Amino acid sequence: MRSRKRIVITVLVCIALVLLAYFAYLLPFYEFVTNDYDVSFEKLFSWEYLKTLVPLFIIIALAAVGIVLIIRLRRILAKADKNTSRFAHARTERPKAQAPKQKPAPFMVVRWIVMIGFSLVVIFGGLIFGMGVSSLSIPILSCPWNSEEMTSSSCYYLSHLGELFELPVSSILIFFASTLGFIILLGRAICAFLCPMGLVQDIMDKIRRKTKTEGLQMNEKMYGALKPIKWSLVLVFTGLCFAGGNFCNFCPMVATAPILAGISTSLYVSGFIMVFVLIAGFFKRRAFCNICPLGYLMGLFHKVSLFRVKKDCTACTECGACYEACPMGIKMIYTEREKTDVTDANCIMCGECVRCCPEDNALSLTFAGARIYTAKRKNVMSGYKPLLLEREAANEHTDLTDAKTGTPE
Ligand code: SF4
Ligand code: SF4
Ligand code: SF4
Repeated sequence: MRSRKRIVITVLVCIALVLLAYFAYLLPFYEFVTNDYDVSFEKLFSWEYLKTLVPLFIIIALAAVGIVLIIRLRRILAKADKNTSRFAHARTERPKAQAPKQKPAPFMVVRWIVMIGFSLVVIFGGLIFGMGVSSLSIPILSCPWNSEEMTSSSCYYLSHLGELFELPVSSILIFFASTLGFIILLGRAICAFLCPMGLVQDIMDKIRRKTKTEGLQMNEKMYGALKPIKWSLVLVFTGLCFAGGNFCNFCPMVATAPILAGISTSLYVSGFIMVFVLIAGFFKRRAFCNICPLGYLMGLFHKVSLFRVKKDCTACTECGACYEACPMGIKMIYTEREKTDVTDANCIMCGECVRCCPEDNALSLTFAGARIYTAKRKNVMSGYKPLLLEREAANEHTDLTDAKTGTPE
C-alpha cells in the first residue's frame, strides 16, 4: 500500500516536472542576453560585471528572506505549543547548535581546498587556462556558452539522451566508457570533493552553524518521503528527456555558474530552484544531494567504486554518532554488526561519520584498499576538552557518557 502511494506520488511529480521543463522556455523571465564568453580579469571588477550579477543577488536575497521567514515561523509555532509543535516529533536528537568545535582533520581540510579550487576552475577556468584544456571546454558549468562545445560533457548528454543516441556508435561507446571509468575510479567522492553544488550546500550549512541556528533533524520516515522526488528527478534527468523535458531546465547551476563567469542571463526556473537549494541546504545539510539525480546515478556503481567506507564492528560501541552526523541518513553505517564494508549507494564520501566516531579505527574511508581517513577517539574528544575544563572549573558534574554521544562540529 505504502509503495503504491510512493509510485503514484512519483508519477505525479514526474508529470509536473516534465510540464515545467517543457514550458520553461516560454516563461517571460527567461533570457540569455549573450552567448559569448567574453570576460577578462579587468571585466570581473567592472560595473558591467556587477550588473551581470544582479540575478545572483536576487537569488541570494530571496533565499535570505526565505530562511528568516522559516526561522520566525518556527519560533511562533514552538511558542504556541512547545511540546506538540509540528516539528517536535521529527526531532531525533537534541539540537546541535551547542556542539563543541573539533580540531579539523587533514582529510576535511583537503576536501574543502579541493572543493573550492575545483569550483573556481570550472567556473572561472576560462580566464586562467583559456577556453579549453585538451578536449574539455571551460568554464564547464557555463552551459549557455558551452551549448556548442558541450559534446564532450557527460552531464549534458545524460540529460539529453535523445541527442546522444544520434551520434555514431563509436562516440556512444566512448561516452559510456569514459563516464563509467570516471565514476568507478572516483565514485561518489565526486560529491564530496568536486561538485560545486556540494560546496554551495556545505557553505550554507557552515553559515547555519556559525549563526547557531537549529537545523532540521530528519528521521527515517522523512528520508523515505524524499525518495519519490529523487526517482522522479532521475526519470526526468534520463528517460523523460525523450518527451521534451530535460534536467538542464532545472539544474540549479545553470542559473548561477554562467552569471559568475560573466554571461548575462536573467532569472530562470533554475534560479528559483537554486533559492530552494540554498534554503533547504541551510536547514538540512546536503538537502539537495538527497534528491539529486546525478548523485543517484553515480551511486548505482557504488559496489565497484574504489572509494569505500569500512567498519570494524568489534570496535563499534553502537553510540549512533555516525548516523546522527550523516547528511544522507545512512542508518546501516550504525546498525551493521557483521560486514566490514558499509559503503552505501547514497554515501557521498563526506567523512562526517568518521569524523564523529569516538572509537579508534571503528570507521574509515579507504581508496583502493588504503586507509585515507580513520576514526580517532582523540580527535573527537579534542572538541570536548575546553567544555570539560570549563565544567570542571565551575565544579559541575561532568557527564562523559553524554559528551560521547554528541556530534562535535
Ligand atoms: S549528490 Fe548531486 S548535487 Fe550533491 S554533490 Fe553529488 S552530484 Fe552534486
Ligand atoms: S556514510 Fe559517512 S561518508 Fe557516507 S555520506 Fe554518511 S557521513 Fe558521509
Ligand atoms: S560512531 Fe563509531 S562507535 Fe558509534 S555507532 Fe558509529 S561506528 Fe559505532
